[in-house]
Formats: sequence, C-alpha cells, structure tokens
Amino acid sequence: MGLKKVNKSLVVQKYGGSSVADQEAIEKVAEKVISSARSGQKVVVVVSAMGKSTDELIKLAKEINPEPSEREMDMLVSTGEQVSSSLLAMAIHKRGFDALSFTGPQVGIITDTYHTQAKILKIETDRIKKQLEKGKIIIVAGFQGVSTALEITTLGRGGSDLSAVALAVSLNAQLCEIYTDVEGIYTTDPRKVKSARKLPFIAFDEMLELASSGAQVMHTRAIEVAKKFNLKLHVRSSFSKKEGTIIMEKPPLIEEVIVRGVTLAEDEAKVTLCDVPDRPGIAAFVFDQLAQSGINIDMIVQNVSRRKMTDISFTVDENKLKKTISKTKEISENIGAGRVISNKNIAKISVVGIGMRSHSGVAARCFSVLAKNKINIDMISTSEISISCLVKKESGKKALRILHKEFKLDKKKKRGKR
Ligand code: ADP
Ligand code: ASP
Ligand code: MG
Repeated sequence: MGLKKVNKSLVVQKYGGSSVADQEAIEKVAEKVISSARSGQKVVVVVSAMGKSTDELIKLAKEINPEPSEREMDMLVSTGEQVSSSLLAMAIHKRGFDALSFTGPQVGIITDTYHTQAKILKIETDRIKKQLEKGKIIIVAGFQGVSTALEITTLGRGGSDLSAVALAVSLNAQLCEIYTDVEGIYTTDPRKVKSARKLPFIAFDEMLELASSGAQVMHTRAIEVAKKFNLKLHVRSSFSKKEGTIIMEKPPLIEEVIVRGVTLAEDEAKVTLCDVPDRPGIAAFVFDQLAQSGINIDMIVQNVSRRKMTDISFTVDENKLKKTISKTKEISENIGAGRVISNKNIAKISVVGIGMRSHSGVAARCFSVLAKNKINIDMISTSEISISCLVKKESGKKALRILHKEFKLDKKKKRGKR
C-alpha cells in the first residue's frame, strides 16, 4: 500500500449525506478521492453521515425522550459521521491506497461548550500534517469537535461544510471542494423551481445571505469563515464531473446582475408579544433575554404604539418555538406585558444580490409583483443586499416562482430544432 508522493498541493473535499448514502455511493467517493490523490494532491476528506441517518438518530432520541439533553444529543448524532468516515477509509484501503479516518476530537477540532451549536475555536493540525507527510489520505468525520470542557460537541445541522472550510483554512489548502447532490449553487433551490439556473460564480456576501435566508445548500458559518480567510469554494456534484459554482470575494462581471438568487424558508414561526410597555430599554431587555437563552431571532417588527403600549413580533426557527414561547411568557411577566401568541403558518421569501447596492427599486418591484398576485406581506426586513418578506405558508412556493421569474432568473428555454 502507499500513496504516490507527488503532493504538489493540498485539497480539502467534503462529501454530503447523499454522496455517502449507501455502499455504492461510498465506493464512488473512494474512487473520486483516489483519483485526486493519483493526480498528486494531498487529500483531506470531510464526510457527513450517511443519507438521512442524522435525522433518524434525532427521531430515535425523541422517541425515547421528547426532550433529550443537548449533551447526549451530541454524543448520539456525532456517531453518524464516524460510521461514514471509517467505511470510506475501508473502501479506499480495498483499492490499495492508504487512508486514516478520524473523529473531529482526534484531529484537534476544539470548540466552545455550546452543545448542538458549538463554534470552532481552533484546530490543532499537527496530527493531520504528520499523516499527510506520510502520504496518507485523511478522512475526518464532519460536524463535530471537542469542547474546551473535553465534551463531544456538534456544529449545528449541515455543519460538515464548516468542518471542511475550517480545516481548509487551518491547513492552508489550495482549494476546498464541496461535493453535494446538485451541480452547484442555483438561482433558487432546483428542487423547488425547475427553471432554476446554475450560477458559475457567486460572491461570499450573496451566498451568506442566501444561506442565512434558508438555502440549505451551504452552512452559513462555513461561508463566514471562507469569506474571512478569502478561501475560494467550489460547490459541485458528486455524481458528475461538471464544473460547479465558485464562491469567491469578487466574481467576474460577466453580466450585470442585480438579483442573484431567491430563497424560501418554510421552517420559521412567528411569535408576538402583545401590549409591551413602550419605553426605552424594553426591546433591548426582551431580545437580550432571548439571546441569553440561545434563541436566534430572525425578523423583528414593532407595531405603532397605542396608549404607550405596543406589540412586538419576531420570527424564530420552528424547532425553537416551544422554548421561545415559554421564555417569552417569562419575559412578559417580568416587564408587565400581555399575551404571547404564535403562528407557524408562515414562509419567508428572500431576494438577494449585491447589485442591489447600486440599484434602487428592487423592493418596490418585489412588493408590487406580490400584490399583483394577491399575496399579502406580513413582515418585511431588508439589508444592503437582500429583501425578505413574510407571507402565508400556502403562498410561499408561488411567491418564490413569481419573484424568480420577475428578476429574470429562469433558465433560458432551449430553442427547438428548426
Ligand atoms: P449535503 O448533504 O451534500 O450537505 P444538503 O442537502 O445540505 O446537501 O444541500 C443540498 C440541497 O440544497 C440540494 O439538494 C437543494 O435541494 C438545496 N438547495 C437549496 N437552495 C439551493 C440553491 N440555491 N442551489 C442549490 N441547491 C439548493
Ligand atoms: N450530518 C449532519 C446533518 O445532517 C451534518 C451535515 O450533514 O453536514 O446535519
Ligand atoms: Mg449540507
């Protein structure tokens, strides 16, 4: 056994769940990895858990205990990636190449202590470097690390992207390739809109907005880290050799793009705290208390005050709704506010593009095309390069298609033969 030692450059490749879903898929990944190693590259591979196995582990946990402790959840779900990484190593060995699989803790991925949502603090790369020098292919179980309190932690759903990017940065990799089940980043989720178009390039800022607005294709914090260290990412399919999408600081200006993409998030819920005393410091108190409980807020709207009382509405991840309601009730009692109501029947639609910095009128175009189609907007939030509107859940998909078309993102139709 032995890896040819040309080792011109180092590449980090990440394979998502569907890319390692079963034996056949794992064998294909092994071939791909070996072909990179054969071309003389040092290869570090990051894998996700097989197929939907993380979802299955979470389901199983909740059947045993509807409110499992976050520490035990990390103990449980981190095993998914351990399975796929060791199986991939075996598939590579079978082909006569040398590979070693590691868990996140084994390769020194050190995180803070926030179970299920931990942040990477540093990576001690000595062990990987030593093994790379020996010509081994390194396989790292994604999505996990070890906390400063020596506990196993996970990085949040989809966190293997972050493991890959953080490793690529720490090891000074030339390239970080994200292999997934679509051919790259599209103008919108190609599974929801058939006419979605693959983008050759996208800017970090745009990808960051798309990811944080619900495009699950890349983990938000992975993009943050890539942007911070200006690491180019290549998102591409594990099932084809086609070029995918390059995520980079400044994409070449092939055409002037105002809107780069549209997303639909259907997993948020709205919470309204009624009759809040309208005086300075109250909003700060409410959101500080929520933040301290680990609840991330997305959109916020405060109504016009009537008789020194106002309503504050905000949106959160649907799976944090129960926790949010009980915390908000506690806050309400504390500040002498009124009822807490919630609504799961919502969807958020976001339009993203750095071209918006220099073009006005995008918001007006969004609102008017939604109005023309009788879609009512419940909440609005904007940033320099994005506009998000909250609509009823049943209008979400229609709104997505309408906005995709309005901003000319649809794939050009192939002309029929003459
Ligand atoms: P992996 O398991 O490889 O990490 P994910 O399921 O996390 O893959 O992400 C890939 C999925 O992201 C695609 O199957 C697609 O449905 C979805 N997706 C959402 N928005 C986009 C987009 N703008 N471009 C490409 N894929 C998208
Ligand atoms: N297996 C984890 C998840 O399903 C991490 C990942 O796939 O990136 O969220
Ligand atoms: Mg993913």
